[in-house]
Amino acid sequence: MSESCNHDCAHCSQKKTEEECAAERAFAEKMSKIRHKIVILSGKGGVGKSTVAANLALGLQLEGLKVGLLDVDFHGPSIPTMLGVKGQNCYGQDDQILPLETAGLKVMSIDFFLDDTNSAVIWRGPMKYGTIKQMLEDVAWGELDFLIIDCPPGTGDEPLGVIQMLQEVSKDELSALLVTTPQEVSAADVRKSISFCRQLQLPVVGVVENMSGFVCPHCGEVTYIFKQGGGEKMAKDAGIPFLGRLPLDPAVGDASDAGKTFLRTAPQNSPVVKNFQAVVDAVLSLETGK
Ligand code: ADP
Repeated sequence: MSESCNHDCAHCSQKKTEEECAAERAFAEKMSKIRHKIVILSGKGGVGKSTVAANLALGLQLEGLKVGLLDVDFHGPSIPTMLGVKGQNCYGQDDQILPLETAGLKVMSIDFFLDDTNSAVIWRGPMKYGTIKQMLEDVAWGELDFLIIDCPPGTGDEPLGVIQMLQEVSKDELSALLVTTPQEVSAADVRKSISFCRQLQLPVVGVVENMSGFVCPHCGEVTYIFKQGGGEKMAKDAGIPFLGRLPLDPAVGDASDAGKTFLRTAPQNSPVVKNFQAVVDAVLSLETGK
């Protein structure tokens, strides 16, 4: 039986063992090598959260930073498809799991552990917590400027687990970025995400309004299929930065389906690429202070 280390647990009054304290120190040390952790949240699915996560990771990498992308969406992981690595497996080395390296990014997803990527992951909270911990603790992330974390929609086990685990080791370098579409049904759910962040004392970098208008591929004119401004109004009401609108653009869907990021494949003068740079710049300012 291990001796008590006499450290109080952050969550209960129990004392920790030497092993638990050593593991905690090792985890804190590992996470301290990742300067900024950005959790990507949305109220609803299908609003473009994974698209923003993948392109933000690439956008930061294109700025010359070292970037990792962690997909903790266990029930619908999209990152492997969007980066063209679906069906690939990850391997272990020296007690660590090696992240997949693609497009200059270090990437980890539950998909890389599955023999059949069409099989459903049917897990309750504790399994998810354990796997998230492994994905942070046991993956050879190395030194990173940014770790972008794509969460499933809502305020359930995965975002709560990842945020609490990271807050235990450092609150300062962790923040959230929220994605919504312009409609009130999406914005209403993002308000819950804002409340979630506030309750967890998690700073919000800002809100991105995706699928905001449609860019005609023939004439380039923008038509507001849904409506416009829902995300901006919601951000203003909540007093958090609005990072910009990304129009619906077939080039975005085509890039995702082809396993590529639209930042690389869409015309560089397209509104979606130009507007996305503001999102990258806002996150970049966490590093540069500008
Ligand atoms: P979420 O992560 O919120 O569930 P995804 O990022 O998976 O949403 O996006 C859902 C689908 O919508 C994907 O096929 C993606 O390529 C597409 N999509 C996302 N944003 C846009 C956009 N601005 N224009 C066109 N298609 C988009």
